[in-house]
Amino acid sequence: MLNYIPRNYVCKLNKDFMLWHDKQEEYQHIETIYPVIQKVIIKIESLLEFTPERELHFCMYSSNKDAQNQLNRPINRTMLMAPLSSPDKSLIVLQSPAVDQWNGDINRMNRHIAHEVCHQFINEKSSSQKSLGDNNANLNTPPWFNEGLAEVISHKVANIPIKRFDIPGDVDFELLDEDLENLFADIRTHAFGIATSIVNHLIQFHGVKYIFDNCMQIKKIYNKTNAADAKSRAAD
Ligand SMILES: [Zn+2]
Repeated sequence: MLNYIPRNYVCKLNKDFMLWHDKQEEYQHIETIYPVIQKVIIKIESLLEFTPERELHFCMYSSNKDAQNQLNRPINRTMLMAPLSSPDKSLIVLQSPAVDQWNGDINRMNRHIAHEVCHQFINEKSSSQKSLGDNNANLNTPPWFNEGLAEVISHKVANIPIKRFDIPGDVDFELLDEDLENLFADIRTHAFGIATSIVNHLIQFHGVKYIFDNCMQIKKIYNKTNAADAKSRAAD
């Protein structure tokens, strides 16, 4: 059994993923979330032209208490996360609509599940590993890229336009990575906006598949693209 999944949980599966849930979970809740996951995976696989080889597990906690016990920390009642990436398995956890009605809102879940699935696909593509509390020490791509691409992809999956943020000429990537975890929501939201705009700009330039396939060289790609931008601005 995987870490972070309660022993009494059972699994509903198909060829693409496994959804772990409480044996007692309401049928209706499983039937709400299961097809969302299914559609999101198919959509992202086609956007990135990528088929994961790592087993893709989901766990829907039936109570906030289960979530906090398994993850060993306070957990917001609407929170989703990707606590585990190993060379052969990925895990995404969420909470049942019984915990909070927002967890049953299909549009919201579509977006958030897409965000987490994208993180896991980047982890696999970059041979990264993760377990909760490791400070992302074994991720081979920078946070600004992970969050930026996850946001671009989740907007595409949910069919929502991406808000444009002015990208500073000389981005301080270290500060941007720090701001993505800032406790002040305004700073964090702004950092997400900038990261998303940068990745979206690179995608418009190179295409999403190229950016995803070359995610380990993302800083180099950024520098090259930025230099080309400056040149074309100078020519104007
Ligand atoms: Zn994220």
